[in-house]
Amino acid sequence: MKTILTGIRANSVLTLGNYLGALLPMVRLANEHSKDSQINIFVPDLHSIISDVDGSLKENTIRTIKYYLAAGLEINDNVHIYRQSYVPAHSELCWMLDCVATMGETSRMIQFKEKSKGQESCNVGIFNYPILMAADILLYDAEYIPLGEDQFQHIELTRNIAIRFNHKYGDIFTIPAKTADQVKFMGVSDGIRIRDLLNPEKKMSKSTAAENSKIMLDDSPEKAAKKIMSATTDSLGKIKFDMWGQPGISNLMLIESLVTNVPLQDVIATWAGETRYGDLKKQVAASVSAMLTDFQAKLAGITDEQVYALLESGEKYANEVANRKLLAVQKAFGLR
Ligand code: ATP
Ligand code: MG
Repeated sequence: MKTILTGIRANSVLTLGNYLGALLPMVRLANEHSKDSQINIFVPDLHSIISDVDGSLKENTIRTIKYYLAAGLEINDNVHIYRQSYVPAHSELCWMLDCVATMGETSRMIQFKEKSKGQESCNVGIFNYPILMAADILLYDAEYIPLGEDQFQHIELTRNIAIRFNHKYGDIFTIPAKTADQVKFMGVSDGIRIRDLLNPEKKMSKSTAAENSKIMLDDSPEKAAKKIMSATTDSLGKIKFDMWGQPGISNLMLIESLVTNVPLQDVIATWAGETRYGDLKKQVAASVSAMLTDFQAKLAGITDEQVYALLESGEKYANEVANRKLLAVQKAFGLR
């Protein structure tokens, strides 16, 4: 059985962009494959602490797992949910892979360059987290790791580390699929990118300060509707899907398509020739409120106990699998 591994950081409440661009596609992929694959869904809490955290990581983690369930994740014996910090083998393998990866290749990571730019005091975790990511993946022989395009370079790094290790010590790691094959597996031509409501040239980000630029999953449906109504559009006066020329209007159409699960082409066809932006906004506001009402009701129905029960079995499974792999690596190095 192949293993599909996916995770989402739990630093704060997620945005509609995170939900439509990451969470929902992951849940769909998991549901589609959980009959014939192992599905590992983990919360990378050790990755969270490379940013400042305010002590609420534990609660945020539980909430993030509830998000998966509220988004429709189907649980069966092949679906395993766990917290990274509850499987110590991740940290241990990370150190061992640190001794396999080179400074040269790790320093080339664009995420590191961007996040550390001009920051002498940037923490070592920001440099090292791609290696922890490699450990997250290699411990479970994961072949497919659905993630955003900003992380593709880390998959290539993981592959290189695994190939180098196997070359020296024998076939211990499964080599993850190449990024081109990862993309094929995810079934996307390019990723979904929800735009900032006030500055639609930029993507919606949870760390953007302006409240009205983003819809949070815990916004009341009324508040979310107001944010849609005040979204920046343009003065062209025609409803047309053109992300470059009319990003605000196009973003609204994309949101409409994704929250109602109607193909984008159909949404475009429905609005073809229309000129009244207010009508489109009202429609999208209603669709987003309806989606949030439904999502929040489902979320409220999931108890902490349910989540802890899933974690108990998921972490038992994860520790068994990960410790087996860790032992093989320890033996390869001659530590055992
Ligand atoms: P931050 O501002 O802290 O970087 P973020 O909103 O960009 O927050 P991330 O934690 O960086 O969120 O990303 C979580 C996941 O959500 C990733 O898989 C990322 O590709 C996806 N994602 C983030 N923003 C969007 C967006 N606007 N549209 C679609 N997907 C998104
Ligand atoms: Mg981001």
